[in-house]
Amino acid sequence: MTASPRAPLQSLDDALRSLLAAAVPLQDVERVATGDADGRVLAQDVVSALHVPPQDNSSMDGYALRCADAAAPGQVFPVSQRIAAGSAGSPLQPNTVARIFTGAPIPPGADAVVMQEDCTVLAATDSVEMPGVRVNSVPHVGQWIRRAGEDVARGDVVLRRGQRLGPAELGLAASIGLAHLGVAPRPRVALFSTGDELVIPGTVAPQDMPPGAIYNSNRFFLSALLRRMGCVVTDLGIVPDQRDATVQALREAALSHDVILTSGGVSVGEEDHIKPAVQALGTLDLWQIAIKPGKPFAHGRIGAAHFLGLPGNPVSSFVTFLLLVRPFVLRLQGVHDVAMKTVAAPAHFDWARADKRQEFLRVRRNASGGLDLYPNQSSGVLTSAVWGDGLVVNPAGRTIAYGDVVAYVSFAELLA
Ligand code: AMP
Ligand code: MG
Repeated sequence: MTASPRAPLQSLDDALRSLLAAAVPLQDVERVATGDADGRVLAQDVVSALHVPPQDNSSMDGYALRCADAAAPGQVFPVSQRIAAGSAGSPLQPNTVARIFTGAPIPPGADAVVMQEDCTVLAATDSVEMPGVRVNSVPHVGQWIRRAGEDVARGDVVLRRGQRLGPAELGLAASIGLAHLGVAPRPRVALFSTGDELVIPGTVAPQDMPPGAIYNSNRFFLSALLRRMGCVVTDLGIVPDQRDATVQALREAALSHDVILTSGGVSVGEEDHIKPAVQALGTLDLWQIAIKPGKPFAHGRIGAAHFLGLPGNPVSSFVTFLLLVRPFVLRLQGVHDVAMKTVAAPAHFDWARADKRQEFLRVRRNASGGLDLYPNQSSGVLTSAVWGDGLVVNPAGRTIAYGDVVAYVSFAELLA
């Protein structure tokens, strides 16, 4: 269905639901080195073949002993062995202690570690050949012992298919001995900009820009956003203002990409070459989504490739990407939970004019935990997205008074 200018606005939730229904995850599994898997999405569950830690070990530098031997404080014990991390101890002789270091295995027979700060080392004297250690406290069973398998037990699913890998996940995978991981392929995305007014930075100096020309800013943030979401981007530049060239470019892009993303030219009623070209090659739905900034958005198919069309205004393009394209490309990689997570925070501003659409206001957290508003919320003012560190999600028809608790989502979360 193609929307007419009078088509009713649809909610963001409905638009996202339809879009995600079309985002069938890419099926291949790519094997990558664990060290190269940051940002990738697991295509398979990861099951541990061992306990982590592999055996009971000390979490302190100190002395391993048997609690039954040290029921009263101040007893002196000979040191019968020394166990460093990486070496294995032997069974603890009764009424002795083992010198032990952090990470070293607990010797059989010992059931506690006393930290060295709670012990006094007795020096050798003429009368005492074998120096010992005075244990100044009364230990309890299990103290300062990290149990085998307390982090991961053999057979545990430690990471799940569809989980996005970050530094902590890579560390956990390495802790169970995995040098490689099976991850979803990176979505291949062809990026086009539309608009005869656009000039690529570097091709025309600022002082030589002809009247009406503007620099193409969208391609730079869209390309960076896509890469952060794990995509491989082919930047196909600015689509020439000719029907045949546009059809040709889209047809070729569709052969070797999972997604074709464009910005500009999706406003209803606008004359442009993208719409008829996509329609000539496949299908295209133009949506009017009840969001601000944003509103126009296109989704279609050209062969096996998805077509996604963003509005041209930079902030609209930026925000619509975060709201719709981000979950879409994550879902293509098999990420299940793609919902934007907001937190509650007090507004340190007034927003007196209620809008018919759900609004995404550029704000910044201040030192007192409140949210300051960027004064110019126009959809062309990209400075708002640089000054801001996130968005207030303001429901349709709602005004905000200073101190009201609102829903906030940080860019740090959305761009990670
Ligand atoms: P459109 O969605 O094509 O009607 O464009 C809306 C506004 O966004 C117009 O002012 C365009 O000049 C501007 N615009 C479109 N594409 C870009 C781009 N790639 N970079 C910067 N501004 C753009
Ligand atoms: Mg345009």
